[in-house]
Amino acid sequence: MAEIRLEHITKRFGAVVAVDDVNLEVHDQEFVVFLGPSGCGKTTTLRAIAGLEQPDEGDIFIDGQCVNMLSPADRDIAFVFQFYALYPHLTVYDNIAFPLKAVKASSSDIQERVKEVAAILQIQAMLDRKPSHLSGGEMQRVALGRAMVRRPKAFLMDEPMSNLDAKLRVDMRTELKRLQHRLGATTIFVTHDQVEAMSMADRIVIMHQGSLQQIGTPQEVYNQPQTVFVAQFMGSPSMNLIDGKIQSQADVNPTSIDAGDLALHLTHTEVSVKLSAEQISRLGRSDEIIFGVRPEHIVVSKEPMEHGFQASVHLVEALGSVNIIDIFLGEAPETGDLVLLRARTHPSFRPEIGQPVWFDLDPKQVHLFDRHTEQVIS
Ligand code: ATP
Repeated sequence: MAEIRLEHITKRFGAVVAVDDVNLEVHDQEFVVFLGPSGCGKTTTLRAIAGLEQPDEGDIFIDGQCVNMLSPADRDIAFVFQFYALYPHLTVYDNIAFPLKAVKASSSDIQERVKEVAAILQIQAMLDRKPSHLSGGEMQRVALGRAMVRRPKAFLMDEPMSNLDAKLRVDMRTELKRLQHRLGATTIFVTHDQVEAMSMADRIVIMHQGSLQQIGTPQEVYNQPQTVFVAQFMGSPSMNLIDGKIQSQADVNPTSIDAGDLALHLTHTEVSVKLSAEQISRLGRSDEIIFGVRPEHIVVSKEPMEHGFQASVHLVEALGSVNIIDIFLGEAPETGDLVLLRARTHPSFRPEIGQPVWFDLDPKQVHLFDRHTEQVIS
């Protein structure tokens, strides 16, 4: 299998910078997911690796060899952009055998390889069927088989499950991940579905407007988002992000100010969050802050809490296994925008709308971002 390295890849379409100076190393046998909203450059990056798009700048290496000048066919990579793209008039066997016939492999070789792939994908019983007699999930497996049969160095998959219904997507997710593990196949998988990314990836590459925002394991990108974009993109409901200001008017100087004296006042609210010495030491000169906390790290109670804040309930969403409580913290006078904090609670916690509640935050789970750079502070 293969190692894939991108060095300073940039691709423009007229004035649009689709991929902006991307550097990335995908390790041998790794399952990497490109994740980001529509138009962030995922497909263009994938197409550049496949050789279907020529970058304006930068180099692409596969197993240490620069492939910039190699045609897609010579890169020895399988591009699975649509699991449904099967030849309807051919049987499953012939669909899978197609790439081998195209390179004039011997018939005994073809037979052996198709049988091997069919066994891995557990589709031996349907080799004589035409695609119209297969379910969506079976068609996906056949298309994957057609990509696997060439034994490519790596698989590139562009939203391969986007046509499937929700239940099948979940099943295919598990199946694909298991298969990738079994084959030890270096795989890059493109999606805009964060659950798909979290459940399958060894590492997730989060893209926004052509640039890489963060690369890390699912846990890293979820628990330690490096930018406001990543913080709000990962998680559902997404992280609460509220503008705030450091309360001391003095220049922030961690050596001369008592840590206990600094707090973060959340704009248009009466909430001030005391900062830890460590948080203060990282502030530098930032005083306009975006405060972040995930809904699951907020504790809400109908009873007063010693260190909690009092607020009122704006909305209750009962989702079955959990409740989402929107807590009203304040309102921007100029725009009338509400400042709300969404908390995830046990389903048995069902306060009335307008009822006073108390909430507290786990200080270790608070994220601070510089409002101007939108980069993490702590
Ligand atoms: P999606 O999830 O919608 O497929 P994406 O993250 O894969 O989006 P790309 O398809 O890589 O994004 O597109 C990145 C940007 O480049 C977009 O602004 C898109 O409009 C633009 N773009 C992509 N291909 C072309 C093209 N052939 N000509 C002009 N602009 C293009």
